[in-house]
Amino acid sequence: MTPLERYLAVCNGQLPDRAPVSPFIMQFAAHVAGVSYRDYCLYGEVMARAQMMCVKKFGYDSVNVTSDAVREYQALGGPTADFGEESVPAAEPVPFINDVDDLKRLRLPDPLGDNPMREQITALKILLHELPEQPVYAWVEAPFQESCILRDINYFMVDLRTNRELPREILKFVVEMETEFAYAQIEAGAQFIGIGDAIASLGSADDYAEFNFPYLSELVDRIKARGAYIKYHACGRTKHIWKYIKQLNIDILNLDSLIDFAEAREFFGDKFVLKGNLNPITEMMDATPEIIHTASKRSFEQAGAHGKFILSPGCELPPSTPYENLEALVESARLYCSYATKDEGRTTNAS
Ligand SMILES: [Zn+2]
Repeated sequence: MTPLERYLAVCNGQLPDRAPVSPFIMQFAAHVAGVSYRDYCLYGEVMARAQMMCVKKFGYDSVNVTSDAVREYQALGGPTADFGEESVPAAEPVPFINDVDDLKRLRLPDPLGDNPMREQITALKILLHELPEQPVYAWVEAPFQESCILRDINYFMVDLRTNRELPREILKFVVEMETEFAYAQIEAGAQFIGIGDAIASLGSADDYAEFNFPYLSELVDRIKARGAYIKYHACGRTKHIWKYIKQLNIDILNLDSLIDFAEAREFFGDKFVLKGNLNPITEMMDATPEIIHTASKRSFEQAGAHGKFILSPGCELPPSTPYENLEALVESARLYCSYATKDEGRTTNAS
């Protein structure tokens, strides 16, 4: 099977030959390609070339076009802190939006305009063209995550308790912006879209219910209506918001290593493809191939034995991960995450 066939199988409840293996790779790819992370973020061609070099070198099953969380914020004119050649771009630590009037002055950016969103779409188009047998993840930020960037996270979290109108207005604006960005990427050919909600677990369950879920699910439903598969990722300990996540119309849930994968499978049943969940530090960057094999077996047994599983670290692959460790992860999918040997190539519904 090709990587794309493997991905479509797991997303549609069928057993592939083996589970896809899809580490989430950004800085590591720039490292492999020998380009600065600044150029990787700034130029779509550089990003695409680095993603291609990396996937061809290691043979895992997907590529992606995300690099940082401030692309949309920059397209709106948000100032970024002066980041060095190798650091991840970040917003200046002051609010870009201070009140509803600031928000009214903003216009939705054109994803194909002269801005960083267009560079991401450039990378997407190159990868879709050059790697037709590979799933290519397009990318948008979750409304809660992006709103925290526009308002500054410290102010935003205080607003949730003191000034509830402003966060709601920012969230509404962001849903429209991310919808346009997602639509532009689908029009460019994207079949898979990742939604990044790294800080979703910072708030309480009630915060998620009121300020995250309604806006996120609106975005998810709009993307699904255009036919794309969705991967959702929130970092850290997410168990307190699982009951809401379970209601999302997503396909793939990428869970962090801090949660118990067996417990997650029991809670979510076969509703989602579960993606994860090796510890990026202790079971990837600082691990031995033996540790990686053991951890991969554990993840597969806990969440993948009956299908609907993608092997990966729980979060981004650290850029200084030794090459042999990524090779060990890819090898683990072949050795320990095979369905063909268990079921003689059975491709009936896995659920
Ligand atoms: Zn994460």
